[in-house]
Amino acid sequence: MAELKRLSESRDLTRIERIGAHSHIRGLGLDSSLEARDSSEGMVGQLPARRAAGLILQLIRQGKIAGRAVLLAGQPGTGKTALAMGIAKSLGAETPFASVAASELFSLDLSKTEALTQAFRRSIGVRIKEEVEIIEGEVVEISIDRPVSAAAAGGSSAPSGVTAAGKTGRLTLKTTDMETVYELGGKMIEALGKEKVQSGDVVALDKASGKVTKLGRSIGRSRDYDAVGPHTKFVKCPEGELQKRKEVVHCVTLHEIDVINSRTQGFLALFTGDTGEIRAEVREQIDTKVAEWREEGKAEIVPGVLFIDEVHMLDIECFSFLNRALENDMAPILVIATNRGITSIRGTNYRSPHGIPPDFLDRLLIITTQAYAEDDIRKILDIRCDEEDVEMSADAKVLLTKIGVETSLRYAIHLITSAALACQKRKGKIVEMEDISRVYQLFLDVKRSTQYLMEYQSQYMFNEVPGEADGDD
Ligand code: ATP
Repeated sequence: MAELKRLSESRDLTRIERIGAHSHIRGLGLDSSLEARDSSEGMVGQLPARRAAGLILQLIRQGKIAGRAVLLAGQPGTGKTALAMGIAKSLGAETPFASVAASELFSLDLSKTEALTQAFRRSIGVRIKEEVEIIEGEVVEISIDRPVSAAAAGGSSAPSGVTAAGKTGRLTLKTTDMETVYELGGKMIEALGKEKVQSGDVVALDKASGKVTKLGRSIGRSRDYDAVGPHTKFVKCPEGELQKRKEVVHCVTLHEIDVINSRTQGFLALFTGDTGEIRAEVREQIDTKVAEWREEGKAEIVPGVLFIDEVHMLDIECFSFLNRALENDMAPILVIATNRGITSIRGTNYRSPHGIPPDFLDRLLIITTQAYAEDDIRKILDIRCDEEDVEMSADAKVLLTKIGVETSLRYAIHLITSAALACQKRKGKIVEMEDISRVYQLFLDVKRSTQYLMEYQSQYMFNEVPGEADGDD
């Protein structure tokens, strides 16, 4: 019994973990012409910003804006992180998306530039194509013991399209999913309409269209033929069998390759996240190797998205690093966000818009987010109630929306779970106005908290009440 309880508790915990601040965001909520739907995929309102993000998304998909940077600027709680999340979700699993808060860079054991380099390389994907040989299907040998011309005249098992040569030949046939492949052996024959085919050639017959294609010619024992259709190659196997060469694609990030190849760390560091500093030589070797793979057509780079939140927390050195890193031809798309206005650039005495140096600002495509109207707040709260499995009465929702308008969207979102707990405590089933009022009184929003501080700050340590400080002197 106790075990059962523990099990259900742990299940609840998993569920709680899954409900993150943005877990309701499943995309940008755009239609096929990139117009923003009023409420879709968990996204509500903020239409111009979503439309702009949709265009960015399209550019990313077309691989056109590698090395560009986008700034999401707006007041706190206006959905900047939600927008970045929406872009990430729409890109799908194959496009790498790395997210980091600028303040994290200063609290890691790594140097700032190493932490930034790792973040960059976590958002650069490498699609590695590997050819794997798979023997499949049944190999059937058909011997044509009469002149091929008879076959061409019909009434034979020879493939359509094989025309007269007046000689005999042997066909090795293998059926694959896509087509039937014939290897022409024995004496020379002529076939395939205009094209000449002779002993040792391999041809494919597309059963649906009846089209016959010459795949190539055998070269000694190891034979390679031109690709038939995307990612498919046929080779001659030792004993007349045919093997299909399948292409297997692995998607990894440059950072993963770095860690696996870094002798000091080893791949287990990928799980612990404790990768430490990776030596520059390791990265150089990997870049050279990847460049070789690209040349040989074995790999391609997938520039992903690097999202840096609270970008005003970066200092001048970080900005200079970013400026340079974006010049690299493998650079990801950088999306940064800030809620600051004109403020000082960290590490300098200069002030600038968003605390971003003017030369870096100049590189940015800027998307601004606007404060939400009451209707949008109501819809977002509705979505969050669903997401958090909280049933709330219509009156309570009206009250919560009003609180959201008066205080902030984020504060109102926080009240959902706490009101549900208050409701649970009084053994209620649906969150009512009284639950909302109760938690509203228990937890202060910023305005009330500031007011409280103004009234009682003399009772706190290190208070700086202007009047009193002056008086002390
Ligand atoms: P800050 O500047 O403080 O970091 P922000 O602009 O990044 O704030 P978010 O964290 O994105 O704001 O938004 C606050 C909450 O509201 C989040 O839970 C977010 O998912 C939700 N939210 C914001 N905008 C929308 C929206 N347009 N549609 C749905 N949910 C939204």
